[in-house]
Amino acid sequence: MPSALTDACGRFAPSPTGALHFGSLVAALGSCLEAGSRGGRWLLRMEDVDRPRCRPGAAARLLATLEACGFEWDGAVMLQSARTARYREVFEQLKGAGAVYPCGCTRGELAGVPNATPGIDGAPVYPGTCRGGLPPGKAARAWRLRLTGDIEFDDAVQGPQRQNLPHDVGDCVLLRADGLFAYQLAVVVDDADQGVDHVVRGADLIDSTPRQIYLQRLLGLPTPAYAHLPIAVDAAGNKLSKQTRAAPVDAAHPALALFAALRFLGLQPPAELRRGDAGGTPAERRRASADLWTWARANWQLNKVPRVLTLPAQNFYPGDIS
Ligand code: GLU
Repeated sequence: MPSALTDACGRFAPSPTGALHFGSLVAALGSCLEAGSRGGRWLLRMEDVDRPRCRPGAAARLLATLEACGFEWDGAVMLQSARTARYREVFEQLKGAGAVYPCGCTRGELAGVPNATPGIDGAPVYPGTCRGGLPPGKAARAWRLRLTGDIEFDDAVQGPQRQNLPHDVGDCVLLRADGLFAYQLAVVVDDADQGVDHVVRGADLIDSTPRQIYLQRLLGLPTPAYAHLPIAVDAAGNKLSKQTRAAPVDAAHPALALFAALRFLGLQPPAELRRGDAGGTPAERRRASADLWTWARANWQLNKVPRVLTLPAQNFYPGDIS
């Protein structure tokens, strides 16, 4: 039964681009257990701001899988697609403060920049072409956030982090050429509006965190605590995703999936909790999952999570070999 004993608040924020795979299950479980151990609420948010990437029916399927795996979230699910007016309001605030500027560069032009500096994620850093004003003959396509200085934060799993924003990432787009607001803006506004005070998510987002902290400071919003969990990768080292054809979590055997996710997160649940699932009736399998949740809530410790960026999924959840 969800119940908040404190103001602590965590969240799981999947993008409905496909089925729940083992990597997302790990993020859901880690964020849920951490929020519970702080006596706080645990919220769900559908990050469907990037509508072209969303798949019809994926949000409903994600929720059904989470439910089948025994997750219980607090309150209604927030939908980013319903929050455009709020993002617009914050965007206008940034515009009024001169923190964003129009950019007329096309993707093709940026890809063709000779000797472009690769950023921390391998993508070229924006060379600043429109930073001082739109060059003659260019019309605004997107709006970028002017990024300056260094950001440091202490990640609860990955340790101290430091990024030089102009050098490592460059001015990022907040309002896209297709008229949609970017994830970086939406996530900052949503975490603040939902009162999220700690964020537990996959380490693929650790490089986005300094940009998000920068935006929080600019907007006078509190910065949550961050914990970036290892991401589940396939045998070739690629993050599990729809693109790498990651198998969906088998919601008919929740205890097997939860057992594997707990081990991935550094816990050692007793083997008999897993055995309760094998060959059982649906009711027995549900009981096995409930027993595993009880064990997990009693034994969760964020400091047991391996302090690495990636871990091979197949060492834990063999069903997920792509
Ligand atoms: N929507 C993002 C994803 O599915 C997660 C964003 C976040 O947790 O901040 O990867």
